[in-house]
Amino acid sequence: MPTETFEFQVEARQLLQMMIHSIYSNKDVFLRELVSNASDALDKLRLEALRDDSLDADVSDLHIAIETDRQARTLTVRDNGIGMSHDEVVQLIGTIANSGTAKFLRDFKEAESTAAAEGLIGQFGVGFYSSFMVADEVTLLTRRAGESQGTRWTSTGEGTYTIETVDSAPQGTAVTLRLKPEDTDDQLHDYVSPWKIREIVKRYSDFITWPVRMAPEAADGADGAEGADDAPREPETLNSMKALWARSRDEVTDDEYHELYKHISHDWSAPLETIRLQAEGTFEYQALLFIPSHAPQDLFMQGYQRGIQLYVKRVFIMDDCEALMPPYLRFVKGVVDAQDLSLNVSREILQQDRQIQLMHRRLAKKVLSTVKDMMSAEPERYATFWREFGRVLKEGLLSDFENREAILGVSSFATTHDKDEPTTLRQYVERMKDGQEHIFYLTGESRQAIENSPHMEAFRAKGVEVLLLTDPVDEVWVQAEPAFDGKQLRSVAKGEVDLGTEEEKKEAATEREGRQQEYSDLLGWMTDRLSGTVKEVRLSSRLTVSPACIVSDMHDVTPALENMYRAMGQ
Ligand code: ADP
Ligand code: MG
Repeated sequence: MPTETFEFQVEARQLLQMMIHSIYSNKDVFLRELVSNASDALDKLRLEALRDDSLDADVSDLHIAIETDRQARTLTVRDNGIGMSHDEVVQLIGTIANSGTAKFLRDFKEAESTAAAEGLIGQFGVGFYSSFMVADEVTLLTRRAGESQGTRWTSTGEGTYTIETVDSAPQGTAVTLRLKPEDTDDQLHDYVSPWKIREIVKRYSDFITWPVRMAPEAADGADGAEGADDAPREPETLNSMKALWARSRDEVTDDEYHELYKHISHDWSAPLETIRLQAEGTFEYQALLFIPSHAPQDLFMQGYQRGIQLYVKRVFIMDDCEALMPPYLRFVKGVVDAQDLSLNVSREILQQDRQIQLMHRRLAKKVLSTVKDMMSAEPERYATFWREFGRVLKEGLLSDFENREAILGVSSFATTHDKDEPTTLRQYVERMKDGQEHIFYLTGESRQAIENSPHMEAFRAKGVEVLLLTDPVDEVWVQAEPAFDGKQLRSVAKGEVDLGTEEEKKEAATEREGRQQEYSDLLGWMTDRLSGTVKEVRLSSRLTVSPACIVSDMHDVTPALENMYRAMGQ
C-alpha cells in the first residue's frame, strides 16, 4: 500500500510545537489522555454494538492494555474499541476542531510567565497530542469495528504525518510512543517502568470503568530481563474500575473525584465544587456533579457542549445529555447514572420522559442549593463562582420561573452601597431603610452611566441603596419585576418615587399636590408643547440637582431597553 504524507493544519502544528517543547511540567498526564481516549473508544463500541445488531465486532473482552519495551524504548496503549477509519484518522488526529483552540494559542503566546502559560494549558485539555511531550515519534495503528482494513498513522510531530492502509490490524486502536531518551533515562520519567505505569494509572485513571491491564512481559521486571520463573503470567489489572458515584463519600478521596472530573470535562484544573446526589425509591439514580473553577471559552457560543454524561446501570450511554440540566446551568459537568432506563434510550425519549423531567428539576435545585450553601459558608469561593458563571446563571431568571427566587437568592449585583464589592439581595434587604418597600435598581450601560443618571439624585440624597445593573440580560429579566423575600425589584426610572416612612410619603404627596396646582399652567403648557414626545409633564420628587428628567410609566420599557430595541431596528 502506498504511504501518503499529509501536513498538519496550522493550529495543530502550533499545538504540537508546544508539546514537543514540553511547556507543561507534569508530563505524566499524557498517559491519562491516552487511557481516556481508549476508554471513550470502548464506550462507543459498546453502545454501537447495542444499537446495531449487524455490526461485525467483538465485544466479548473490552479492555485497555499497556505494553512497554525497555530495549526498544516504546510504550503502547492498546484498546479493542471502536477504532477509526482512514478518513477519521485524517480528520480527528490531523486537525483541531475545537473552536476555542485559536484563542487559546493566541493567549498562550501572550502569556508572560510560565506560570501563566501553565494556567492556560490547565484550562485546555490537549488530548492525543500530549504524547509528544514524551515521545519523539508516535505511531497509531487502528481499525474501525466492522471494517476490514486498518490504518497506520505515524509522525514525529514536526509538520507532517504519514498514513498507510494496512491489510490486517486488530480491532480498535494501538498508540505506540517511541520515548525520548531523556525520559527513559531519568527515574522520575521512566515510562517503561511497570511501577511508574502502575502509579500513573492508579493516580489518574482508577475510576475508568474498563480494565486497564499491563501485559506480563512488562510486569516481569523493570529492566526487561527474563523473570526468574518462566510460567506464563496473567496480565495485571491496574485500576479498581469502581464507579465513584456509586461509592460512599468517605470511600473516595478528593483527588479521585478530581480525576473523574478531568476525564469528563477535559479541563485540567480542579473543580470549584463537587456535588453528590443519591436518589432512592421508585426511580433510583446517582449523580456526581462538578462546578468548574472557570468558565470555558465557548460557554456563550452556539453548539456549546453541555457536560452531563448519562449512564444506565454503570454503562455509558451518552455525553452532553441536555435533558438533565437546564441551559442556564450548562457549565455543570458530571455523571448521572440511572437504574431504570433502557440502554437503548434516545435523546427524543429522554426529552419526554416524566422521570427524567423530575430528575432535571431535582438536579437543578441541588445545584442552586449548593451555590447557596457556598455563599454563606465560603464567600470567597462563591465570589469566584459568581465571577465565572453569574452571567449565564442569570439567564435562568428568564427561563426558570419555578426557581426564580432561588436564582435571585444566589445572585450578586453591583450596588451604590459599595464601589467594589457586589451585594447579594439578602444583604441589600438587611440594609433597607425603615418604610422602604422595594429593592431599587437602575439598568444602564456602565456603572458610571448609571451613577450619572438624574434618576439617582433623590435616592442618593436620601441614602437609599440602588442596584446597578449593567448586563444586557438584566434589561430583560427585570421586566417581570421579580420579588425577593417579598420585596419587589423596582426601577428607579419608573413611576412615582416613594421613599421614606408612611408619614413622610403622605406629607410629600400633599405637598406635591399643592405644588402641582401652583404650577398647573406651566405644566399644562409644557405638556402641550411636548405632546407626541412625552405622555405627561409633572413635578418630580426624584430630582435634587437636575432641572428635569424623563421617566417611564410603571409598565413601560426602560430607556436602556428602548435603546436596545432601537439598535435592533424595532
Ligand atoms: P478529545 O479526546 O478531547 O476529543 P483527543 O486529542 O484526545 O481529543 O482525541 C481526538 C479524537 O481522536 C477523539 O475525539 C477520538 O475521536 C479520536 N481518538 C483518539 N484516540 C482514539 C482511540 N483510542 N480510539 C478511537 N478514537 C480515538
Ligand atoms: Mg482525549
